[in-house]
Amino acid sequence: MVIAGGGPSGCATALFLWAAFSGVSPGGTTRGIGPHPPRILLIDKAAFPREKICAGAIGGRADKALAAIGVEVRCPSVEVRGLGVVTSEGRLVEKHPRPIGRVVRRREFDAAFLEQVRARGVEVKTGVAFHGFERRRDGIVVQTSAGAITAKCLVGADGVGSRVRRELGLGRGNIYAQAIETDTVWCDADARERDDDDVLWFDLRDRRYPGYGWSFPTVLGGESMVCRGIYRVTHGPCALSEQGPDVSSLLVEELARLGLAKDGPFKRFAERGLAAHEATAQARVMLVGEAAGIDPVLGEGIAQAILYGRAAGRFLAKCLARGDFSFAGWSRTLARSRVGVDLTARRFALPHVYGPHRSKLERLVASSPALARAGLHYFAGEHVPRVELLRAMADGVGVMMGR
Ligand SMILES: Cc1cc2nc3c(=O)[nH]c(=O)nc-3n(C[C@H](O)[C@H](O)[C@H](O)COP(=O)(O)OP(=O)(O)OC[C@H]3O[C@@H](n4cnc5c(N)ncnc54)[C@H](O)[C@@H]3O)c2cc1C
Repeated sequence: MVIAGGGPSGCATALFLWAAFSGVSPGGTTRGIGPHPPRILLIDKAAFPREKICAGAIGGRADKALAAIGVEVRCPSVEVRGLGVVTSEGRLVEKHPRPIGRVVRRREFDAAFLEQVRARGVEVKTGVAFHGFERRRDGIVVQTSAGAITAKCLVGADGVGSRVRRELGLGRGNIYAQAIETDTVWCDADARERDDDDVLWFDLRDRRYPGYGWSFPTVLGGESMVCRGIYRVTHGPCALSEQGPDVSSLLVEELARLGLAKDGPFKRFAERGLAAHEATAQARVMLVGEAAGIDPVLGEGIAQAILYGRAAGRFLAKCLARGDFSFAGWSRTLARSRVGVDLTARRFALPHVYGPHRSKLERLVASSPALARAGLHYFAGEHVPRVELLRAMADGVGVMMGR
């Protein structure tokens, strides 16, 4: 099998598939499928370590999923213990007694992740780009910059610009966003506006666009800094359109507000949200991670990419065991998986979060510590206590009734 793309979704797919065959997946139904793991070839067009434009905040649930198959991705990280939100309706910060996740530099995290894949004997070829494929009766011929490779199937884990997706004729997708970021020093305004340096901050005050600003602690070359950015949905349901200020001018405004100079070029990239009923597979070819689509509300995609890999690895193990590469069941398997349920909920929430109910929603997130605590547990990959959910629901009803 060929996996095109060595980011979090490609690495996780290879590792969870490997785990299903070697029997180290504790909860997996495919445990110990057989003594002969399939031959997996992972290719990536980049030479690692490589840059990936990303703020690098990873929910603890992703590290927990990897730990369950004995994988630990070690790299410089900032531990995160809280979530903060500032809106036109108020402000709330909630901290957790334990770390809920971490912020990494993708250059370092992705290189360390790929090493974990290599360490398990998976063949990895960097500097090799996927170009196209041709289906044959008994397999698929994958064209790459290093020549043709014959395989049983192909996994497209090649991110937002996915060439595999294009070759499948699936187009760009129905929900996409622009995200822009820059790393800065800590400033006086941070001391005034933030409570602690281990909190992920989301700023929803600007209602001119469907999106938010963020400021996350980060570590760059050993130095403590802040990654600041703007996420803006540019195309999606309910008139989330390209009208309104561009992300660049929004980030310039934010830096000016904080009294910070623009230091170096901004890093800007597109993001794709998973839309309802979009195809994610055809015979012998399937998509994972941002090639398929990630969270359209916040643009969170690293934990999702890793959980895509978990669902895909287990699914592929069953396909290999049966010799069935129609991949007819991938969309259904994905929809029922943890990441699928999460993404479905978020894409249905999208028009409400940034649509006509925005002020009510802002009031809720800024006034409900129970909702924030439920979010902390979820982000961390912990069981969300029922009492917090019930309190959050009661807060939601209160806001809807105008109390
Ligand atoms: C500005 C910005 C900030 C973000 N911040 C966060 C954040 O804080 N937290 C979070 O969870 N998410 C964040 N995201 C989203 C996150 O970066 C992505 O969703 C995530 O990286 C998706 O993982 P992936 O493995 O699917 O794809 P990618 O990480 O994009 O990996 C795809 C890989 O495929 C390779 N590739 C591409 N084309 C080919 C080809 N033709 N042949 C072979 N290889 C190919 C690439 O080199 C790359 O290594 C952010 C995104 C942006 C743009």
